[in-house]
This record gives sequence, C-alpha cells and structure tokens, in this order.
Amino acid sequence: MHLDPEPLAITASDAEILEALADIDTPPLLAAVATLTGDLSLLRDDLRPSAAESFDPTAGISPEQAATARQLATDALARYRDSGCVAAAPPSAPSVRTMLEFLAGTPVADDYIELMTEELAIDGVDRRAPEWNHATVAPDRDFRVAIIGAGMSGIATAHRLAQAGVPYVILEKNADVGGTWLENQYPGCRVDVPNHFYSYSFAQTSEWPQYFSTQGVLLEYFRACAEEFDICPHVQFETEVVDATWSDAEQVWNITVRRADGTTDTVVAHVLVSAVGQLNRPKMPDIPGVDRFAGEAFHSARWDATVDLAGKRVAIIGTGASAAQFIPAVAEIADELRVFQRTPPWLLETPNYHDDLPVGTRWLLDHVPSFAHWDRVWIFWRSHEVLVPMAAVDESWESTQSVSMMNDLVRQMFTEYYRVQFPDAELFDKVLPHYPPFSKRFVRDNGIWARTFTRDNVELDVGKIGEITERGVKMADGTEHEFDVLIFGTGFQASSFLTPMTVHGAGGKDLHATWDGEARAYLGLTIPEFPNLFLMYGPNTNIVINGSIIYFSELEARYIVESVRMLLEHGVDSMAVRAEVHDEYNRRVDAANARMAWGAASVNTWYKNANGRITQNWPFSLLEFWQRTRHPDPKDYVLR
Ligand code: NAP
Repeated sequence: MHLDPEPLAITASDAEILEALADIDTPPLLAAVATLTGDLSLLRDDLRPSAAESFDPTAGISPEQAATARQLATDALARYRDSGCVAAAPPSAPSVRTMLEFLAGTPVADDYIELMTEELAIDGVDRRAPEWNHATVAPDRDFRVAIIGAGMSGIATAHRLAQAGVPYVILEKNADVGGTWLENQYPGCRVDVPNHFYSYSFAQTSEWPQYFSTQGVLLEYFRACAEEFDICPHVQFETEVVDATWSDAEQVWNITVRRADGTTDTVVAHVLVSAVGQLNRPKMPDIPGVDRFAGEAFHSARWDATVDLAGKRVAIIGTGASAAQFIPAVAEIADELRVFQRTPPWLLETPNYHDDLPVGTRWLLDHVPSFAHWDRVWIFWRSHEVLVPMAAVDESWESTQSVSMMNDLVRQMFTEYYRVQFPDAELFDKVLPHYPPFSKRFVRDNGIWARTFTRDNVELDVGKIGEITERGVKMADGTEHEFDVLIFGTGFQASSFLTPMTVHGAGGKDLHATWDGEARAYLGLTIPEFPNLFLMYGPNTNIVINGSIIYFSELEARYIVESVRMLLEHGVDSMAVRAEVHDEYNRRVDAANARMAWGAASVNTWYKNANGRITQNWPFSLLEFWQRTRHPDPKDYVLR
C-alpha cells in the first residue's frame, strides 16, 4: 500500500469519465476536482449540500443537482486531460476555507476550519507535526521516551517523537506491530469506520480496496506506516512490560520488562507513554464452569485457526461488535451453530459494508487521489458532532427504550430496518433491542444478520445460560446443549486499564490501588502524582457513535510531544497534573456522561465499571478534545 500516491494521467473519454463519476458523492468530488485543476468556480452555490440535512444520505442534494455537478466535474477533468494532466499548485489557505465551507454547506467557525485543514492535509503539509526539535531546544539534555505498545497509538506517537528528534523505544509484547489489528484475526474482522477517515491524517492513501477494510488490509497499512516512518528498529518485540516505577531520586521511569525467553530486564526512560489500548485483554464470561468444557474452546481475540469448524457443532456466546462479525462466517462453515445472545445489538444499515470499491470510485481515486482527502473531511463533517445530540438525554423524556424525542426517532428508523429484514415475528422479537439506540456501539449490517439467522444450521438462543459443562452449555431451565467447539465473543477487560502490569508513581504510589477500580485521568492522559506518565486511549477517551479513535490518538500524540517540549524548554525534570485540575475535569466528565444515552441507559456495556461509572467514554464534542489537547497548559501541572 502506498501513502499518498501520485495521480495517474487521464486517458479516458468524456463519456467514460462521466460514467466513472456516476455514484460519487458530489460535494467531495467537486472539491477534489477543484484541487486538481485549481478551478474553484466548480464550487457553485446551487450545488452546495444542505447543512441541515448532513445526516441524510443525499445531504440535501437533488438528483438534478448531482447530475449537474458530475457533468461539471467531467468537463473540468476533460480540460485537465486535454491540457496534459498538469496538476494545479496546492490550494492556498483561503481556497481551502472556501472548499471546506462548500463541503459543509455553511460558514464554518475558525476553529473547525483549522481542525479540518489538519485532517485534510491536502497540500502534503502535516500540520500536526511538531514545530520544534530536541537538537535546538535542549541539545545537551539526555532524554528518552519509552512507549508501551506498537499498535495504532504507539506508531503515531513514535512518528511524532522522531519528527521532534526525541529518542524513543517501543516495548511491544507481540512479535509484530499492529496491536488490535494483529491480535484480532477472527474470520470476518473488519473496521466499522470508513477507511478514508480510519487512517492517519499524516499517512493517507487512496488505495483502500474497500470502504471498510478487513483486518489483513489494516494490518498491512499499519505495517506500511511503521516502515515508512522507520519505527521497527526502535521496537523491542516480544517484550512485555511487567512493572513501571518512578524514581523520585533520579526522576526517571524504571521499566521492568520480560523478554520472550522469560528473562527480565530494566529499561530507563524520562517519559513513559502507555499505548496499550483499551480492548486487548480478553474477558471470559462470569458463567459457572467456564473452564470446564472438554472440547475446543477459545476467545475471539485468540482465534484458534487450527480448529477446523467444518462438520462441527459450534456454540458462540455473545453478540457484540466482534461476534457480529464472525457469527456469519462461522455459520457458513459449521455443521450446526447455536448463538447465545444476552442483549441484541442495534444494527446500522450499511449496504456497502462488505463491498469492494466500485470501479468508478477506483478510477477516480487513481486519477484524482485527493478525493480520498476530501472524502475524509466529508465523513468527518457529516459524522462528527451531528450525531451527539441524538444521544443526549432529555430528563423529561419518560421511556426506557429511548432517551429523547430525537433518540426515539432514531429508534423508530432503526426498528423499521428490522421490520424489513426480519419478517418472521418470532425472530424479530428476539433480535430487536429494547434499550435506547446509541447507548452502546451499533453493528453495521448489510443484511447478513438476517441471512445468518434464517439459515437452517443456525439457532439464536436468547435463554439464560445456567452453566458450562464438560459437554456444552446448560441453560438455567435445565436444558443442555452439546457442542464440539465453544467460542467466546465476550469482549475485553476494558475497565482494567494498564493491567496486568503494575505501575508505581511518586513516593511509590500504586496506580491500581489509587484508582481502586475507578480509572481516571486528566484528558484521559495524565494522573496526579504519576509524573511524566501519559496514557493513550486512556479513561474517558472512547467514542460510542461518532468519529474515529485514530483522531484521538493523533491529538494525544501531539499533546505528549508538546509536553516533552515543555519539559525541555522549561528545563524541568518532571510534570504531574495538579489534583484539583484533574478532579474538576473528572467531575465535568461524569456529569456529562450521565446526560448521554450510554450513561443513562441500564443496558450492559463495557463502558461502565463495576460501580456503574462510565470509565470509557468522551461525552463532549470532538472539537473540544482538539482544543484542549493542542498543547499542555503549564498552569495545570506541577513542574519539578
Ligand atoms: P462486547 O461489545 O463487550 O460484547 C461482548 C458480548 O458478550 C456481548 O454480547 C455480551 O452480552 C456478551 N456477554 C458477555 N458476558 C456474557 C455472559 N456472562 N453471558 C452471556 N453473554 C455475555 O465485546 P466485543 O464484541 O469484542 O466488542 C468490544 C468493542 O470492540 C466494540 O464495542 C468496539 O468498540 C470494538 N470492536 C470494533 C470492531 C470494528 O471496528 N469493526 C469490531 C469488534 C470490536 P451483553 O451485551 O449482554 O453484555
């Protein structure tokens, strides 16, 4: 996979170009063609999307407007072809603003323009790159950062540190980079955020083969990024961190690691970054007898590809985001499949979820690669804040199935999809959720859920499981089902941040004892009395319905690198967030989460810890995270 490939020369006829553009969304199309040709007159007022209808698939553009826009784009590309395919110079900042406001269909506040310009990276300028360097800021100061994890977040931070000339080492328990996309190799695994958005702003490519790539393609992308940014020579693979202890005397982290051969070692660093993710320690269900099954049994994140499911009686426990992807795949192989569902997922109709990019889109991306950039901000704009109000709680709304009138409209719209997909009343009753939409992650569906559960070899069991036995699953009513293979799609120990490693901060303070099951951090990143420790994808930085986790990781990486700059520029050894800043921030987060569907609804989710507190989710706007993480405020920190 190539990052930001050059455009191929156009040789297609006018008719072929028009045909290729037949299904392309016209706002990003016109912006991309205007970028390539420099012709901003394409962005006509009468072809703007409607800001009020940005959630609608058409974005308020009529078929006639779309036809006019595609003809305009075709004519502009034909002129470009006829004049020798000479691309225009990158657009100026005012031109980018014109294009972004065209895409949004409305004037856009300065902050959003700056944020979207960073996301767009249209001129090849990486606006989130550090604008300083260790060699100029503090050339004589010995400084080294240790990052735990070479997944998506670890790679982003490593790249940023390298750009600032800060030495770093990555400690990675696996033998390869990729994190979650390396570990989750279950059949059917793919991303549920479109790839033009689920990718780094600083490493965009127009070569995604599908809108939503499979695990193997994503792993290839992250490997390509690691190679492009020369990260692997800095990674100690098969090296698991077992303890990190802050030395008050030396003002460094002493990190105890266990190597593949079982020996332990100490790595010393001035700053420690945890990039271990939230979803990497499999959770086995709290069902009696969970270890008793005598047949083959495994968790989805530890998929055992040596177990041949053909001709077998298979049971799957769980119908969350992971299981929803591998249940259809297992159904096609197993002789019999019984799925145990405790809570049904809300399905989000996504007809193209498994599709290859259409030929026309492929042509456009090959010849106008900046379309990938414009599609990225198009997705960002339409799915960023617009969804959040639909999850906000109206306290006067009396229902357990929705949290507001707007949320109820979403519920009705989603329910209509179930009515079409599941005409059988008995199955409809089993699959339809009774909790508010947006209180847990939706599952994208192109009709495969209904196709799977109407197969002769598949049974959806919504009964209560009593125990797991040597032979299979015994229900609470005493019925026993026998199986050859048992697969757990039961999620991750998400609330147990940074386990099983131990972490000791200033004065030997134990992190997990301090948290006592209540993981909290300032901006998800820093913790009082744990100097120079930064968490990526830390507490309350997960998003349920909008955005991409890569967006958060990039902003966290910037905050971390700017924090290193603060340490070097201020000539101080350490920074620890002030307790009052951390506590006040967390009070705000808790209050805001309680007003969102995921906080108010009583449905089971991995967002809540054992006490019912939402430890995972970010309840504010994406813009606010960007504003708050551009650089650390020295006033928030105790500098030593
Ligand atoms: P999950 O959402 O936590 O789902 C776990 C499933 O196991 C749920 O259906 C749960 O039922 C069930 N379960 C747990 N304990 C059980 C028990 N004792 N008895 C019966 N059922 C039990 O985990 P996940 O599916 O691995 O997904 C976790 C997150 O990973 C997602 O929310 C998403 O953020 C991410 N993910 C993303 C993708 C993607 O991008 N495509 C794919 C997979 C995962 P209850 O609902 O009743 O608890």
